[in-house]
Amino acid sequence: MDVAVLTVGDELLSGDTTNTNAAWLGRQLTERGATVRRSVVVPDEVDVIAETVGDLSDAHDAVVVTGGLGPTHDDVTMEGVAAAFDREMVEHPDAVTWFQEHDSYDHQKLTEGTTHLPRGARMIPNDEGVAPGAVVENVYVLPGVPAEMEAMFERVAAEFGGTRTYTEVVYTDEPESALLERFEELRERFDVGVGSYPGNGVRVKIQHEDAARAEEAAEWLRERVELQDECREPAQR
Ligand code: ATP
Ligand code: MG
Repeated sequence: MDVAVLTVGDELLSGDTTNTNAAWLGRQLTERGATVRRSVVVPDEVDVIAETVGDLSDAHDAVVVTGGLGPTHDDVTMEGVAAAFDREMVEHPDAVTWFQEHDSYDHQKLTEGTTHLPRGARMIPNDEGVAPGAVVENVYVLPGVPAEMEAMFERVAAEFGGTRTYTEVVYTDEPESALLERFEELRERFDVGVGSYPGNGVRVKIQHEDAARAEEAAEWLRERVELQDECREPAQR
């Protein structure tokens, strides 16, 4: 299952807010076996959101969108999603029922528009906050506040899946350029995916759908590289 993540917010582009939602969703989706093929950041602008949602929706099995669901003037994500699918924003019966049934909202004057969602959407209730999320066709719209986004993602997480890949990690002190031939042989021998991430030494990520194969490949490499002292054990995943 190919998935795109779309995070919305001027503050993400300017660097005022670190985009932890994109990283969190990337991990969650990957752990469930989905393949995240794009992670895109756009400003709080209806037209840009609509165009990007349309493109990502066409090219992927699902799109997860976060940010810009609240009541302030810059929260225009739901309108953008509605526009992408040429749907009106209408008062959603499930959202109305949700607020009626949850006591804490009885005495709270909801901001106008809080119960409005694109016509025909499936509502995702917000257990941690107020603004509801929605599923429109293959697009899942969640709030920006991380605790709210995470709780609401759990409600739909089972809808994301695919073939799980198993990961083994080998840490080495050798420079990346010295490892190229061994990477080549590793891929040929074991048919594994090999990712190389230099930083403090090199973190080599070995992946396969068969856990035993990934482990065997990692062992093969560990015997052939200079291992980092503090990291002889493979990372647990
Ligand atoms: P609210 O109803 O509170 O306005 P919202 O869904 O409209 O929520 P935003 O207005 O986009 O969400 O963001 C609210 C806050 O959530 C931001 O100030 C920021 O702290 C956090 N946030 C938003 N997007 C992200 C993100 N991608 N990664 C991490 N934090 C984020
Ligand atoms: Mg907001």
